[in-house]
Amino acid sequence: MCGISGYIGEKNCIPILLEGLKRMEYRGYDSSGISIIKDNEIKTFKKAGKIVNLEKILPNNLESTIGIGHTRWATHGGVTDYNAHPHLSSNNKFVIVHNGIIENYSYHKNKLISEGYKFRSDTDSEVIAFLIEKNYENNFEEAFYKTLPMLEGTYGLVAMSLVEPEYIMVARKG
Ligand code: GLU
Repeated sequence: MCGISGYIGEKNCIPILLEGLKRMEYRGYDSSGISIIKDNEIKTFKKAGKIVNLEKILPNNLESTIGIGHTRWATHGGVTDYNAHPHLSSNNKFVIVHNGIIENYSYHKNKLISEGYKFRSDTDSEVIAFLIEKNYENNFEEAFYKTLPMLEGTYGLVAMSLVEPEYIMVARKG
């Protein structure tokens, strides 16, 4: 397990998320990334390699008061930009960062693919974002809590949604 960070408040989240990730660098990692909400859109920046690689692709004037961040130690899927976290749902309205292993991810992934969902990474983690999307009726918190029992394995997890950007959800198991 590596690092996850999340922020919601009055300050600009970018330096806070990056500082949080840097404090956990000693654990080792191979990629890093952040997602923020800006202009009614989830904007994601992620990069294989050191956090400095991520910092290089962040626009200078980037500001937001809500965001999530991740350092990855790959277990499923190679060390690539597209496998780095955060991972968006299919409709781009939900986004997650995950440390750990989702042991039953192939079951969910195959089922979701058969229902027409298109995945963008080789990770086990991406199914979490897709399941939250699928479980969403009209409440993000409910969709999140409905998703957790579907996951076998271990997780440190932070999720954020465009539909209800007033809060972030966190969970931990194992
Ligand atoms: N299993 C996930 C992946 O390979 C998360 C790894 C981690 O804990 O950073 O992307």
